[in-house]
Amino acid sequence: MPNSSSDASASVRARNLMLVAEHVQAQRITTRAELARVTGLSRTAVSSLVTELLARRVVVECAERPEPGAVGTAAGRPAIGLGLDPSGGVLVGIHLAHDGVQVALADLTTTIIDETEHQLDVDHEPADTLEYAASTALELIDRHGLDPRRVLGLGVAIAAPVALSTHALSPTTVLRDWAGIDIAGRLHRRTGIPIHVGNDANLGALAEWRLGAGRGVDDLIYVMLSDGVGAGLVLGGRLYEGGGGGAGELGHVTVQPNGQVCRCGNRGCLETVVGTKSLVSALVNTGAQVDGTDDLVALAEGGNPGAQRVLTDAGRSVGQALAGSCTVLDPRLIIVGGKNARASAPLIQGINDALSRSSSPLNNRSTKVVVGGLGDRAELLGALSIAGSSAVARLLEGPAD
Ligand SMILES: [Zn+2]
Repeated sequence: MPNSSSDASASVRARNLMLVAEHVQAQRITTRAELARVTGLSRTAVSSLVTELLARRVVVECAERPEPGAVGTAAGRPAIGLGLDPSGGVLVGIHLAHDGVQVALADLTTTIIDETEHQLDVDHEPADTLEYAASTALELIDRHGLDPRRVLGLGVAIAAPVALSTHALSPTTVLRDWAGIDIAGRLHRRTGIPIHVGNDANLGALAEWRLGAGRGVDDLIYVMLSDGVGAGLVLGGRLYEGGGGGAGELGHVTVQPNGQVCRCGNRGCLETVVGTKSLVSALVNTGAQVDGTDDLVALAEGGNPGAQRVLTDAGRSVGQALAGSCTVLDPRLIIVGGKNARASAPLIQGINDALSRSSSPLNNRSTKVVVGGLGDRAELLGALSIAGSSAVARLLEGPAD
């Protein structure tokens, strides 16, 4: 006869094991003391949970992450760090941007083992894109002599809103050639790996918060400036995806009511003003040789006044689109990422100009604008991160030794 009291106690323990394992994964390296502080569990409870996670080989002991100025514990002994066991399995991450595909193989801590990148017309070639992504993932696994059964998850970041309930693109997606395509189903049938799909800017926000410029900041907005433009929100220590997965669509906020018609069907969206194509075409009369992001960034970094002006103006438009959100949400940090953020100084100056003009004096002084810490890998690392979270959950479902 089932014992409901022991069932409830086992379920609380399973939940706490997942809570502790998720925190270890999010922090990459942590300590028992930090786990007790952030989970609110007693040190004794944390110690018992960690002992089980060590026995299950989900976590391992390692050197503690050095903090600036730290020389060890008060007693002079170095504290013992805890991290996910990198040998527990591997993950695949894929970023489907508008104009190219990144594929990476990583260990469970999302440390990249190998990666590759390929230019492709992702927006209009969904079949070729998914075949390239799947075959490249399988090639990377094979190149490293890995048993496919050790690949515990594959995360996909895509440049379109993703429905929370189904992890599928909305039927009215801005990627019209992808409407109705079952990304997770197709990739799973081709690779046999569990698949997780998310919006790329949301996953960029998740990665910058867990691993990059947003570590330790629980209220932030990540802005992705590439060929497409998007944002991801971390609010109260959680990725906020909105009621249906469409939160953070900053690229489709109207900034020029009489501007160009956007691919979403509205007019004057931010993306029509600060997407790479618009930035490049703004330089057409200057005589500069500009073919894309690399040229634009090189010109700006080389001191070309036209390129710097274009990026400062782009920053002002981004700040204008962000100002209302900052007034409403009062984020501590705005992180600027994406390919065009490689020339970050004029962009950040423009964003700060617009924010100081347009957002409420009550809170904008506390919002700092910084460049991302993960470069153009943020979305890829976010994809690895969601694959890793579900992989850890599955490891915990297995029987303890
Ligand atoms: Zn639009």
